[in-house]
Amino acid sequence: MTVYMLKLIYIVIDGMADRPLEELNGLTPLEYASTPNLDGLAKRGVTGLMYTVEKGVAPESDVAVMSILGYDPRRYHTGRGPLEAIGAGIEMKDGDLALRCNFATVGGDWELIDRRVGRSLTSEEAAELGSAINKEVKLESHPADFVFKTTIGHRAVLVIKGRGIKLSADITNTDPAYVKLEGMGIASVKPERMVKRCEPLKDTPEAKAAAELVNEFTVKSRELLEKHPINVKRVEEGKLKANIVLMRDAGDKTPKLFNLNEKYGLRFACLADMPVERGIAKLAGMEVIPIPPPTGDLKNDYGFRVERLLEVLPHFDAFYIHIKGPDEPGHDGDARRKAEVISLVDEEFMAPLLSSVKLSETVICVTADHATPCSLKAHSDDPVPILIAGGGVEEDEVQTFSERSCALGKLGLLEKGVELMPILVKAVKAGLT
Ligand code: ZN
Ligand code: ZN
Repeated sequence: MTVYMLKLIYIVIDGMADRPLEELNGLTPLEYASTPNLDGLAKRGVTGLMYTVEKGVAPESDVAVMSILGYDPRRYHTGRGPLEAIGAGIEMKDGDLALRCNFATVGGDWELIDRRVGRSLTSEEAAELGSAINKEVKLESHPADFVFKTTIGHRAVLVIKGRGIKLSADITNTDPAYVKLEGMGIASVKPERMVKRCEPLKDTPEAKAAAELVNEFTVKSRELLEKHPINVKRVEEGKLKANIVLMRDAGDKTPKLFNLNEKYGLRFACLADMPVERGIAKLAGMEVIPIPPPTGDLKNDYGFRVERLLEVLPHFDAFYIHIKGPDEPGHDGDARRKAEVISLVDEEFMAPLLSSVKLSETVICVTADHATPCSLKAHSDDPVPILIAGGGVEEDEVQTFSERSCALGKLGLLEKGVELMPILVKAVKAGLT
């Protein structure tokens, strides 16, 4: 008898879940979107709803992803900074300080003009600014070196390494849009307009040194950015300057995650765009499949990612795939665009995937890392829809994939995101013959 194992394809669509909207005739963007492939899977599988962390927590992606991969964020999360650093390939040891950064636009008086440089800074421009910062900025308030690495668009990560001193993450954010709650980054309900000074949260030399180094880096990098040729050119072209680096979500140690491959006896691989998701995958023991950064042309980006998945499919047992797209229009409050993006995921990613894999040999799970309701323009704690199909998974009555329809599914309501992984692994192993 041939022994073979079912494959697991676990697809997380960023910020897909939402709420009913008047402008969509009382439908959610997912309901409004054209999703024949997702609906077909829902029809053939079991569905439900899930709080990706738990009720009452509107998570950032990193916290949510950890949770839905089976790591209780309260126990394992040590700040977003270290995840970003590891995902971006920066070596980090305990006592180093890692922060998530954004290039932004600031006025002469430290008033924030745009948190993301109007989303118009290219990765190439950012890389050039980053290399100037690495070359020219010297930290002197305490003995320390740093690595500043740009990632995608306006995003970057900073790791400050003390020479002979340890640094503590008990410091505040300079980015006014985010605050810290029990060490986890959450969006500020009413963000202030001024860039903040970094303050120590504890009266320790480690926290004070960390805050002083962050402030020194902020001031020195701003001076350099203000007159950098890239910014001079941007102003000539009528674009916003990338003249400040905002920092948030400090961490001073890497999270110690158990190895997923060992825990579940499956070889995991990850296909994700963003450093933070790649960082989590790496720490979980997954093979991170190299892919070029997204081009912004979603049709091509989704098509390319599904091709890449099919190429590596024979080499691993389980795949965590993080698809970007619906979250951004959610933050912009653009419901029609969000529905359009979800339709594109269905047509350009799900359709080719489903025509290339056999459901008899594959368990497919589709869900979201959190809701990003257009009406809030921010993440919420709303439960997200979830479907599991293929292998020996039994169908329920649900015929479409949406927030409302999945509420009637046989999986019921998962109260915590950490409950999902064992269910998926069971579905894969039940198919072992
Ligand atoms: Zn997300
Ligand atoms: Zn978001």
